[in-house]
Amino acid sequence: MGFEAVIGLEVHSQIKTNTKLFSSSNIDYGCDPNSNVSEVDLGLPGTLPVINSRAVDLAILAGVSTNCRINKKSTFARKHYFYPDLPKGYQISQYDEPLATKGYLDITTSDAMKKTIRINRVHMEEDAGKLIHDLSNDYSMIDLNRAGVPLIEIVTEPDISSPEEAVKYLKKLRNILIFGGISDCNMEQGNFRCDANVSVRRVGTEKLGTKTEIKNVNSFRFVQKAIEYEINRQIQLIEKGKKVIQETRLFNSKSNKTYSMRSKEDAHDYRYFPDPDLQPLILSQERIDKIINSIPESFEDKISNYLNKFQLSRDDVDILISDKILCDFFDSTLEYVNEPKVVCNWILSEIIRYIKQDNFKLKGENFAKLIRAIVTGKINNNSAKEILSKVIETNENVDTLINDLGLQQESSEAFLSQIIDNVIKDNRKEYDRILNGETKLMTFFVGQVMKETKGKGNPQIINQILKERFRID
Ligand code: ADP
Ligand code: MG
Repeated sequence: MGFEAVIGLEVHSQIKTNTKLFSSSNIDYGCDPNSNVSEVDLGLPGTLPVINSRAVDLAILAGVSTNCRINKKSTFARKHYFYPDLPKGYQISQYDEPLATKGYLDITTSDAMKKTIRINRVHMEEDAGKLIHDLSNDYSMIDLNRAGVPLIEIVTEPDISSPEEAVKYLKKLRNILIFGGISDCNMEQGNFRCDANVSVRRVGTEKLGTKTEIKNVNSFRFVQKAIEYEINRQIQLIEKGKKVIQETRLFNSKSNKTYSMRSKEDAHDYRYFPDPDLQPLILSQERIDKIINSIPESFEDKISNYLNKFQLSRDDVDILISDKILCDFFDSTLEYVNEPKVVCNWILSEIIRYIKQDNFKLKGENFAKLIRAIVTGKINNNSAKEILSKVIETNENVDTLINDLGLQQESSEAFLSQIIDNVIKDNRKEYDRILNGETKLMTFFVGQVMKETKGKGNPQIINQILKERFRID
């Protein structure tokens, strides 16, 4: 009798705020070590935590976006453990009364079926600091910039049955958090990471097997590999008559294997208790409603609009939707020009290379002017690229620039015919070769004509006239 895998995922994602969850320290990535650490983050005597209300709003939004019930009362608890990166000796988290519960996300399985993954809870907690072991042979270093950074933890029920489903769920969750502006979910910076709980059981049995938890996996590929490895490891153990031990494991991406890190602690090991420094978090219905009403359209509606109304391809939609900056730029351009496909193509082939740069100034309204100039044939693609390279950093008016640079496309058939005849006269040999069937020389002629028009010739019309001259249909 075969085995089946049972998987539950816990995702930690950094909430997109300017300051920490309980202090006013800033949370910018890449600052000097220990430069963003306040007395509160260190838990010094006499300090008190104050909840970051923006973080709460974004956590509520995360709950709503994952179809959870938002609890009007939730509480903060201290989770105690001793570790050098945890200066207070406890982490402030939510335990028995989390912010949001009982949600779900639907994924599409490999056999194209809809599958619902239930979400047990979404809660808020603070991050710990970071230990750095590889700067010295003699000692380790501690950077506490991350200590107190706001996180949401999103925990599924054990409803996932394969590594592929796990990755599908994670990709969807990540896109939803990015789409909602809740988190940047930058996996390299560790602000979207996953603990994978894995067990196996004999097909047809109900009882869950003993699970292991693989900690802090931060790439989709590694999640897939780690779970695959873990499923096989557990099956082999059981087939040899051995038992799976409940423990925490780490994934090594070089060997593609998981290794035991520590035996799994139980909840009571953490000696959770309500944090006496923090009042219960009481949310009014108005506050929750305001957040619900602030969502312009659901993630699912957005995708279906892109696919059905705008007729974009699945691949293009996947790229757009996985980056809020691209998505927003696309949407704001479409407010001014109704050419979704052209806009999408230009964003994914050109804009995508510049949009993350600090000096990117181009606005959707101005980009729409460029798109209009392209689709009406006012300028050709080469000129469009030239203009783009100029306006990216300045947002200078595209229409003015087209005039100033004299880049209007030359579409007059009479004018282009004249040039083409001259080019043919100067290149008799090539002309004869084309007539003898070497049609690939067409591009040579297009190039020559373009050169004569200083790059402004309308390529469609040039092609059309050349074909007539060469009698190619
Ligand atoms: P813990 O207290 O060990 O963190 P929880 O019950 O809170 O355990 O569950 C943590 C995660 O492990 C959840 O995502 C849950 O769905 C998953 N999980 C629980 N039991 C199993 C199991 N037997 N096999 C796989 N995943 C499980
Ligand atoms: Mg856990």
